Amino acid sequence: MSAATAATALPVHAAMDQFALHDDCLQLGAQPLTRLAQRVGRTPFYAYERAQIERRVALLRATLPAGLQLHYAMKANPMPALVNMMAGLVDGIDVASGGELKTALDTDMPVARISFAGPGKTDAELACAVAAGVVINLESEAEMERVAVAGARQGLTPRVALRINPDFELKHAGMKMGGGARQFGVDQQRVPAMLSRLGQLGLDFLGFHIFCGSQNLSAAAIAEAQARSVELALSLAPQAPSPLRLLNIGGGFGVPYFPGERALDLAALGRSMAAQMALLRLASPETRLVVELGRYLVAEAGVYVCRVLERKISRGQVFLVTDGGLHHHLAASGNFGQTIRKNYPVAIGNRIAGGARETVSVVGPLCTPLDLLAERMEMARADAGDLVVVYQSGAYGLSASPGAFLSHPAALEVLV
Ligand SMILES: *Cc1c(COP(=O)(O)O)cnc(C)c1O
Repeated sequence: MSAATAATALPVHAAMDQFALHDDCLQLGAQPLTRLAQRVGRTPFYAYERAQIERRVALLRATLPAGLQLHYAMKANPMPALVNMMAGLVDGIDVASGGELKTALDTDMPVARISFAGPGKTDAELACAVAAGVVINLESEAEMERVAVAGARQGLTPRVALRINPDFELKHAGMKMGGGARQFGVDQQRVPAMLSRLGQLGLDFLGFHIFCGSQNLSAAAIAEAQARSVELALSLAPQAPSPLRLLNIGGGFGVPYFPGERALDLAALGRSMAAQMALLRLASPETRLVVELGRYLVAEAGVYVCRVLERKISRGQVFLVTDGGLHHHLAASGNFGQTIRKNYPVAIGNRIAGGARETVSVVGPLCTPLDLLAERMEMARADAGDLVVVYQSGAYGLSASPGAFLSHPAALEVLV
């Protein structure tokens, strides 16, 4: 959305088309935003729309090969009601902390379909995971030894997968998590020795986990990493103590946040995944192929809503001062992994097109210039009481923000 957009044309980000409008007001879960704000009781809040999450899962099922297992990486959005809903839609839940594990165990997802990844798992977390019977993705040799101790103490056989840090990298990823020196997984070269030790320890080996990176909009780059992951897993499988039953090839499916970014070509990815699936079926028919998706399932289904407190003019520039800000939505402020700040799609939710339009900056109540939700963006002319909506906010929003900073009230969350 550039400032150069003609005043008559509504600047459109694809994200804004995903929600219905009624009388120029955004609708969420078939309710006007103004009414939803009344029922939530106060701003700011996050709202996630069930119908969009369902549509996204249906699209993935229709486009990706049959038999492929979809997992939800719940760090993208750990709201319990949402995770609970997701448990009924996907084939597994991936957690990355004891706290997330607790939320996942409260859903009706079978424990064998819950996996626990992430470096630095504590003995207490490992003991809980062993007792629950979830799959533990081993991130190091030391962790493997500690899991074996936890299993022996409880008289249980821990279920494990081995996370590999491969030699290759995921190209075009917003965040790289494999290739090179990493705190994630075990370097590819050390995997054979670890597999043999794993057998001695009597752990129940299920398979491999290879996750190379996040926020990728290139189907070709993801397809290449997936092909290399399948190839690597098949080459290491003969050295494992038992047959390969699980192969989690990560995810990394990105969503477009900024002007000029294009949505991932899911159809192209589906075609290449069908080839990988066929290859795996032939070489290792018993292996469950898994992709783990976070933001791709939820980012576009969510908005952040805050209220304009004051319309302020400084040296000719308009600032909408709101009750929301970076303490609830660090990513939209540009401080969560961006190198150059860019605007998320933002609009006035109760007057999307509006009559008069103007270029404004949307700021929050924090005493720092970083507290910026939109910088010189064109939107409908707004005043105190109007609702500002930040789109693409269903992932890495509230839980990825420094809520305690400046001691303002927390944001609420609703699933509609
Ligand atoms: C964070 C993470 C994901 C999810 O990443 P998205 O970009 O939200 O899809 C998946 N798997 C692992 C291991 C992760 O750490």
